[in-house]
Amino acid sequence: MALNWFKKSKIKNNKNSSVIDKTDDKKIPIHSDRNNIIDNKSPVIIKNLQQDNEIKDETGPSKPDSTTESKGIFSRLKKGLTKTRKVLSTDINDLFTIKRKIDDELLEELEEILITSDIGVQTSMKLIQKISKQSSSISGADQLKEVLKKEIILIINNKKDEQEIITHQPHVIMVIGVNGVGKTTTIGKLAAKCKDSGKKVIIAAADTFRAAAVEQLNIWSDRAGAEIIKHKDGSDPAAVAFDAVEAAVARNAEVVLVDTAGRLHTKVNLMEELKKIKRAISKKIPEAPHEILLVLDATTGQNGLAQAKLFNNELNITGIAVTKLDGTAKGGIIVSICDAIKIPIKYIGIGEKIEDLQPFDSSDFVNALF
Ligand code: GDP
Ligand code: MG
Repeated sequence: MALNWFKKSKIKNNKNSSVIDKTDDKKIPIHSDRNNIIDNKSPVIIKNLQQDNEIKDETGPSKPDSTTESKGIFSRLKKGLTKTRKVLSTDINDLFTIKRKIDDELLEELEEILITSDIGVQTSMKLIQKISKQSSSISGADQLKEVLKKEIILIINNKKDEQEIITHQPHVIMVIGVNGVGKTTTIGKLAAKCKDSGKKVIIAAADTFRAAAVEQLNIWSDRAGAEIIKHKDGSDPAAVAFDAVEAAVARNAEVVLVDTAGRLHTKVNLMEELKKIKRAISKKIPEAPHEILLVLDATTGQNGLAQAKLFNNELNITGIAVTKLDGTAKGGIIVSICDAIKIPIKYIGIGEKIEDLQPFDSSDFVNALF
């Protein structure tokens, strides 16, 4: 239904009120080279990030329909986390179908469940120890889940009110991450969020690696009603970022979102390229970028944690967005990340539509999980 509607509809371009006919939109191939390596020097090899080679039509209309709207934010989150909840909640219920008491065997099975959801070995062990200490007061699945919720919230402890603060004007957010994790999509969703709250947004198309990348960003910026700054293919991404920030200052834009490549043509180190973009931005505004947002794909599980460490060592990331939580039972990776690196998770992606990005809140997240 939604798909047909989208294909036939004409989408209004908020920027200049022109109308773009989406009927003839070709599918834009992206990420032809999936088995990518971050760069030649980096120790972490990121394989098979995803098989999806095209932007799917399900990216859907620019605004939620009334049914999805009425479902509310929490139920969207719950729906997005269905697969992970199946592991954590249903399997924990099953633990108690035979047993009534917490013993070593049950704890071992619980640890396995936690690891299956990609909470990670270390964090799972930590949680098991906590549960073990409180075992005498736990007599069933519901009580166990309550204790787990409490302990996991202690590990995550993010408050969404603290996530959304725009501290500068323009507030420059540089978005980084390996190929296919959802950087461009997250930028599109973020742009829409900012526009919805009345902010003027400029998007920098600084992924100049693939022609299709700019085209993809164009579609997103049209949907969100944001302005896009782009140069011709293969041009210097740092120059694009600089121009976007300059334009934002000149035009009093409140937010600049800088899209970057996850992979390069040349042997140039991706990290060096990203640092160059960062320097170009700070040439225009010394304290910018105000946010370096790393995007991680939840379906890659523990590999995401390795990526976070690597990018953080090189670029001092200030926040993380975890995407594709809707497509995986590995949602526990969120807990693992928060436990291992003390960088706040700011957003989570729970679908491909423009409204499928939420500010991350630990209580909502944990409640949706169990
Ligand atoms: P980039 O290479 O990092 O810019 O990744 P893209 O933004 O092009 O996204 C790659 C694919 O992941 C696209 O097909 C997106 O629709 C999809 N994607 C991004 N975020 C999400 C999400 O939260 N959930 C789902 N299911 N798919 C997503
Ligand atoms: Mg991209």
